[in-house]
Amino acid sequence: MINITFPDGAVRQYEKGVTALDIAKSISEGLARKVLAANVNGQVWDATRPINQDASLKLLTWNDNEGKSTFWHSSAHLMAEAVESIYPGVKFWVGPPVENGFYYDMDLGDKKMNEEDLGKLEKKMQELSKENSSYQRKEISKADAVKYFSDKDDEYKLDLLQGLNDGEITFYTQGKFTDLCRGPHIPNTGFIKAIKLTSIAGAYWKGDEKNKMLTRVYGVTFPSQKELDEYLKMLEEAKKRDHRKLGKELSIFTFDDDVGPGLPLWMPNGAIIIEELERLAKETEEDKGYKRVVTPHIGKESLYITSGHLPYYLDSMYPPMQLEGIKYYLIALNCPHHHKIFAAEPKSYKDLPLRLAEYGTCYRYEQSGELFGLMRVRCLHMNDAHIYCSKDQFYEEFKAVNDLYLKYFKIFGIEKYVMRLSLHSPDKLGKKYVDEPELWIETEQLVRDVLIKTNTPYVEVADEAAFYGPKIDVQIWSAIGREFTLATNQVDFAQGRRFKLEFTTHDNKTDTPLIIHRAPLGTHERFIGFLLEHYAGNLPVWLSPLQVKILPISDKFSDYSKTILQKLKKADIRVEIDDRNEKIGKKIRDTEVMKVPYMLVVG
Ligand SMILES: [Zn+2]
Ligand SMILES: [Zn+2]
Repeated sequence: MINITFPDGAVRQYEKGVTALDIAKSISEGLARKVLAANVNGQVWDATRPINQDASLKLLTWNDNEGKSTFWHSSAHLMAEAVESIYPGVKFWVGPPVENGFYYDMDLGDKKMNEEDLGKLEKKMQELSKENSSYQRKEISKADAVKYFSDKDDEYKLDLLQGLNDGEITFYTQGKFTDLCRGPHIPNTGFIKAIKLTSIAGAYWKGDEKNKMLTRVYGVTFPSQKELDEYLKMLEEAKKRDHRKLGKELSIFTFDDDVGPGLPLWMPNGAIIIEELERLAKETEEDKGYKRVVTPHIGKESLYITSGHLPYYLDSMYPPMQLEGIKYYLIALNCPHHHKIFAAEPKSYKDLPLRLAEYGTCYRYEQSGELFGLMRVRCLHMNDAHIYCSKDQFYEEFKAVNDLYLKYFKIFGIEKYVMRLSLHSPDKLGKKYVDEPELWIETEQLVRDVLIKTNTPYVEVADEAAFYGPKIDVQIWSAIGREFTLATNQVDFAQGRRFKLEFTTHDNKTDTPLIIHRAPLGTHERFIGFLLEHYAGNLPVWLSPLQVKILPISDKFSDYSKTILQKLKKADIRVEIDDRNEKIGKKIRDTEVMKVPYMLVVG
């Protein structure tokens, strides 16, 4: 017998060789129908793979990100099976899951596939899914694997095999299709009930334009038709709410080739939204005991060597400016400057917790292909702050940060959110993670306690922490159900030491503070992009660039309109008059298009 530990800590005994699917069945048939894969000792496995020793187990369903990505990756195999039956001789490169669905890159030889063929392919996939073929895992020697793909004359899989060794090679077969794959996959194709192939594109092999152009087919699948319908509806709505489209229509931001890609120019309407958001942040932070600082946009190379960002993050920074033999970089984050402010004057326990806040401007050199409206930019304004505290203060400080998030979620009507808590992995201490075994366990537990006690929805992810401490990624969903990463909170026990930050303790010793990096409103760029979609451009009154428009129906009412204008202005309301010589109907329509919350029709 072996012991299986469940996420709630319960331990149950099973026969050696039991599968996650068996275990699900022993709990309930209904659950077994939903299990897509399992997390076994921190690794995602096939639900049908035998477990031969004591293990921790989490059953993964559609509600888990790993369950979803396993579902979508398995759908890529199903699509490949369908492609192979329609285009015999096709060769496949890779077929990973992506944010919303999956793709597979393929070499169709001298055959062609176009948008119209996707319908046919979908139909074939539906047929094959109904066969309920199981995804069968087989360990295979490198020699046998090479022989299999040599016989098929498949240079792509042979290329993949080059990088693999005996003992780590597996084949997966469903129906008539066999693929080189490390898995995992869902139990059988019958789980894939609703299929939509979304697009077809060219993609160079290995992303290199000197290589052959392969055909890439994108698709998305769901466990039911209802979910597919909802997804397609959401996509349609997202198109209407696209922040790039709204940003242009409402004159919020623009880009200019002469300024440079990824560098947004905020127009007067955008600047008002920014100022209101900053006002909210500043008032809230002042109330919570933060102190504001202001720091330069550049810093010397030595600063980033101390912080450890150079040379590792060189690729994501703008190239340096060299002056009098010294290299200066545009800052990619505000932390090092804040640490230097902490270090500027001696600190005692009485100075802690110290919370330094700044709407800091940072520059990151995102690859051109990655730039996307306001979501991926090269200049960002961050709702940043660093909290320096002792270990005893950590729980309260982290809780206060979490409360801040919850407060903001309420203000902006963000109803769905999840904190993704990334933990360290004990066997990688001293390599991937700072070698502080006790501190890791202690702070991870404190963070977990905060999330549990405040009833904040969260998930834990093993082995994805930052180098210097546990990390919390904040995922939020817009009103139409699209997911955004808002911000990252990090606990940091390395930077304090790297910057030799110290404080005198109660008993006159010196200690290094823990640091919390936090940015609840993320960056202006990403957050305003999110808000535009979330509110479909209909911003709440306090954020609206123009709050009131006065529309006189004729010149006769012009003077009276002006007295109202003055009164509202005195009350700090953002107001304008439309005194054009136009029909009132047109004035109303134009004001509606600009999504002004209040129209005062005079006459
Ligand atoms: Zn696979
Ligand atoms: Zn920071």
